[in-house]
Amino acid sequence: MACILTVCLLLISPKLFAQNEPYVVRGTVTPCVNVRTDHSTNAPSIACLVPGTRVMVVGSAPFWREIVFGNNQRGWVAKKYIEPATAVPIDGSDSSSIPLNAFLTIHYVDVGQGDAIWIQTHDDGIDGNGKFEGYSIVIDGGPYSADASNPFLPYIQSQGHRGADIEALFISHPHTDHFYGAQSISKNFRINHYYDPGYPSDLPAYLSFLNAIKGTGSHPGRAQQIHIGEKNFGQIDWGSELKVEVLYTWRGNADNTLGSGNTEINNSSIVLRVQYGDHVFLFMGDAEGKDRDDNPATAKFVEKILLETVPHKLKATVLKIAHHGSETSSTLPFIQAVDPDIVVAQSGRKSFRGTYLPDITTLQRYCTNNPNVRIYRTDQGDAAARYTGRAAADGDHIVIRSNGAGQLQVQALQGGVPFTEKFCR
Ligand SMILES: [Zn+2]
Repeated sequence: MACILTVCLLLISPKLFAQNEPYVVRGTVTPCVNVRTDHSTNAPSIACLVPGTRVMVVGSAPFWREIVFGNNQRGWVAKKYIEPATAVPIDGSDSSSIPLNAFLTIHYVDVGQGDAIWIQTHDDGIDGNGKFEGYSIVIDGGPYSADASNPFLPYIQSQGHRGADIEALFISHPHTDHFYGAQSISKNFRINHYYDPGYPSDLPAYLSFLNAIKGTGSHPGRAQQIHIGEKNFGQIDWGSELKVEVLYTWRGNADNTLGSGNTEINNSSIVLRVQYGDHVFLFMGDAEGKDRDDNPATAKFVEKILLETVPHKLKATVLKIAHHGSETSSTLPFIQAVDPDIVVAQSGRKSFRGTYLPDITTLQRYCTNNPNVRIYRTDQGDAAARYTGRAAADGDHIVIRSNGAGQLQVQALQGGVPFTEKFCR
């Protein structure tokens, strides 16, 4: 009987091993492999996956594999275009080396009209071993500079370790809805590394903030190491479990392709890519892709530069949408390249000559690209409540947790209460 059982196991085991196996689209595929509704080249295509996309194989037929991809979508691809994921380790951040309980947590904090992001890396309790260091990283600080009015400050103080350092503070670009709130953050926490695009702003409030960061005369600076301008960024190291890259920042506007005035300042934004295992997070600052009235079919400004220089690094699991979801960003070629599962829009209720951000037309382009995309907003419910200004910073926080593989954990709040409504219908 035991012998028969062994034979049975041997017979069925190859099939068992073929199920639920991680695979990846081969690097030789150009530009993408079609996913079809059935195992036939005549079946309709429902998606096209670029090289490096990870999928789960759940079944097979001669010459075909059945896969689950994206947001639990199912389809078929020809066997020759995918290979076992173990054959292609993800560059710099291998999810198999991340413990299941090692969470990267990203807080997109509701500060009204502005960006305020707090990233926490997992802490393994062993200081200085080069991984899982429990770092806090802050990108921008929102529009409120005074401690008493800045909702970002008590948010971090109430949840962070008492007396904790901020390992890195990034100012995406020198606009007040990004750097004002960083003033109170830098007053209340020790900053190890300060990063700034180095745009030559002459805004007095920004210059005095920079002086406080750098220090003047007898006043020591608020940051230990200052990195102003891309050439001074060096290798960014938040621990070996993470791969952190600046995909773009201010490199001058010699040929005048980045616009002028506020457009040029937006287009100085640091664009940051953070990879944790299989998950990629993209932080866009206020980088633009077009003028408001341009057709979204064509990218210019920073989106054009990214598409030309780092197209293979744009695919992201979570996108912090550029420029508060403004119609001046998110062109179609850019959306197709990023193809996010989750979009986070940080915005409030501030009238820009009658326009409030995000622009609904912009968000709808993400829905058209992928009807299953999940869009979360820090202005959730603010229009209906007729909130304006500081009142719009009413606790619509988005918190995303990743252990580098599988599904992300998302907690979206409206006025501090869990919120689940989907934007795309
Ligand atoms: Zn902004």
